[in-house]
Amino acid sequence: MALVNEHFLKLSNNYLFSDIAKKVNAFKVSHPKERVISLGIGDVTQPLCPAVIEAMHKAVDEMSNKETFRGYGPEHGYDFLREAILKNDYLSRGIHLDISEIFVNDGAKSDTGNIQEILRWDNSIGVTDPIYPVYIDSNAMIGRAGVFENGHWSSVTYFPCTAENNFIPQLPDHRVDMIYLCYPNNPTGTVLPKEELRKWVNFALRNESVIFYDSAYEAYIRDENIPHSIYEIKGARKCAIEFRSYSKTAGFTGVRCGYTVIPKELQAFTLDGKTVELNHLWERRQSTKFNGTSYISQRGAEAIYTPEGREQIRKTIDYYMGNAGIMRDALTKLGLTVYGGENAPYLWVKTPNGMESWKFFEQLLYGAGIVCTPGVGFGPSGEGYIRFTAFGNREDVEEAMKRIAEWMK
Ligand SMILES: *Cc1c(COP(=O)(O)O)cnc(C)c1O
Repeated sequence: MALVNEHFLKLSNNYLFSDIAKKVNAFKVSHPKERVISLGIGDVTQPLCPAVIEAMHKAVDEMSNKETFRGYGPEHGYDFLREAILKNDYLSRGIHLDISEIFVNDGAKSDTGNIQEILRWDNSIGVTDPIYPVYIDSNAMIGRAGVFENGHWSSVTYFPCTAENNFIPQLPDHRVDMIYLCYPNNPTGTVLPKEELRKWVNFALRNESVIFYDSAYEAYIRDENIPHSIYEIKGARKCAIEFRSYSKTAGFTGVRCGYTVIPKELQAFTLDGKTVELNHLWERRQSTKFNGTSYISQRGAEAIYTPEGREQIRKTIDYYMGNAGIMRDALTKLGLTVYGGENAPYLWVKTPNGMESWKFFEQLLYGAGIVCTPGVGFGPSGEGYIRFTAFGNREDVEEAMKRIAEWMK
């Protein structure tokens, strides 16, 4: 008799975005003439830039020729891309990494979800709250998160990020072995200044913890004082793994490519106190369970680092951040309290009069035909907020702001 992994049964069946889709469909059925505008889901809308397309076309042509055809590539990625990453994303900021510390992947979701496998199931975990659901759910699947009761996982330490603490998470008063940080943050769109990030690095060094640092939105940072990489902080190489993705940087959500950095200095312990390099364990894990990212995707990613590619992706990011600016201004003018949207493509909006997230979601849908994401879907501290994304088309964003103004009159 095959027994299931019962930890999976602890996960909620109601995935946030399918709940939203159900409610939106119900609205569409009863309001067939109304055009719904979604400022909800975190996918990009602008196409790949010409430099990427050209590089991918060329790679496809190479595949058609016996001399230049490529089969399985290295599990950790091709050196042409790893070298471009080292030089452009790190060396340019004074961070020296070795090529063996870069693991190219098929996007940050896989690695942020899988990375926890290389640490024992009974480590304690801590997450900022609200949060990208992958971090907790992937831990719940092997039993590390405990059970879900009253909106909380019993074995997870939550670091609340709310208007009350200006979205700056406070250090816990007890040891936490595995810490997830995401900056610029999805869903709140807020950032962590260097001196605050330094506190987390020092906490991790003192407690011999590991920080999983998701910087998928690094390219959206505008403020010069905000760190792009956790390795800008002294000591982080001994305690942090960093995740990056081309999804939001360059519209790769459908192409699939990103990478993970695991410095050689980063070690964890066996029960009898021996040290083990996490870089080595991850290499071992990937060579068993992963067969590399497609050559075509990696050539596309490489093209982002050319002068043309750089300029072209910058334009698209500016376009999204232009949307964010329009939304921030319009919503603030209407008297709403808005966070984020300055160094990230997300706006985190306080619901009026402390209304529950889902209630405001429904009112906005039925009142203005606009879809947002209820903040409570990202964790208990998200209650009383909603998230807007800036990934829409400019005309839709403008129309949405008009409708909201009309509705709020
Ligand atoms: C979108 C996103 C990612 C990127 O996921 P991919 O698998 O690379 O597409 C990673 N982390 C966060 C927080 C995100 O919002």
